Amino acid sequence: MQIRKRLRIAIQKKGRLNSDSLALLKSIGINMQLSKSSLYCHSANTPVDCLFVRDDDIPVLVNSGVCDLGIVGENVLKEFSLAQNNKEQTNIVTERTLGFGKCRLSLAAPNDFEFKGIQSLNGMRVATSYPNTIKDFSDQYNLSLRALNISGSVEIAPSLDMSDIICDLVSTGRTLEEHNLKELQVVLNSEAVLIKSTNVLDSELQQFYQRLLDRIDGANQAKECKYVMFHAPKEALKEIAQLLPGHEEPTVIPLSHSDDKVAVHIVTKEGVFWQTLEQLKKARASSILVLPIEKMLA
Ligand code: ATP
Ligand code: ZN
Repeated sequence: MQIRKRLRIAIQKKGRLNSDSLALLKSIGINMQLSKSSLYCHSANTPVDCLFVRDDDIPVLVNSGVCDLGIVGENVLKEFSLAQNNKEQTNIVTERTLGFGKCRLSLAAPNDFEFKGIQSLNGMRVATSYPNTIKDFSDQYNLSLRALNISGSVEIAPSLDMSDIICDLVSTGRTLEEHNLKELQVVLNSEAVLIKSTNVLDSELQQFYQRLLDRIDGANQAKECKYVMFHAPKEALKEIAQLLPGHEEPTVIPLSHSDDKVAVHIVTKEGVFWQTLEQLKKARASSILVLPIEKMLA
């Protein structure tokens, strides 16, 4: 295969992952000029092209090397990999979990179903869009589940006596409730992941890609960190710093109007709760500000 000079990334055209995927690209410096009907988009400021497709096609495109990268739910990736493993190994590596598109693939049954543990599901008919994942789960627990593969509206299958139970994606559980179903058992927890084809990239492109990964890591790290600023008496600094487990030594700045007080800037790795602020105040910190951090590069 010809080695490309631009990274080709597959993302969902429309649906739950679309806007978060585009936001992620933007946050790592990839600007896209989007037109609603376009299936292909060329980034003007980076060597990146974007392909907008159905999420089910993303592992196929990356596995075949047509795209170098893809953003897809672990649920879709697992279903694809299981289907593929019956034939051959996949050419896909999972590079990063991305923290959005969180959901779970769960078994659910009508509200009046008496659930007596996983083993009691032996031999049942399961309506699902994930037949390979169900087979894998069934084998793991020795259940002889019978998967009925339907591509949508799985929730109505039990009421039509097409199946005894279902296996579908759940996030809040509201859709199950609306169909008088209850969740029995989680089969898989899922979130969006960045996947990459095992194909070798052009060496310059590989370097550029490594920088993108560092930016993703930096953005993820920044999400968890806070920038805290406050004034405090010099002699209270040690006690105060212990309340804020920081990255590095705090930055301490003299105050023009006070000899015994200083301004302190500190990056904390953990969430800062009201309780922490109250403890800081008790330890004689004042003018306390907590700010989010957008980007970080070590
Ligand atoms: P497409 O037209 O691309 O095939 P779709 O209908 O299969 O779209 P969406 O409903 O947009 O897909 O969901 C895309 C992905 O979002 C899912 O595969 C899953 O990883 C994730 N997701 C997060 N929460 C949910 C949820 N409550 N229900 C369904 N998917 C969810
Ligand atoms: Zn889909």
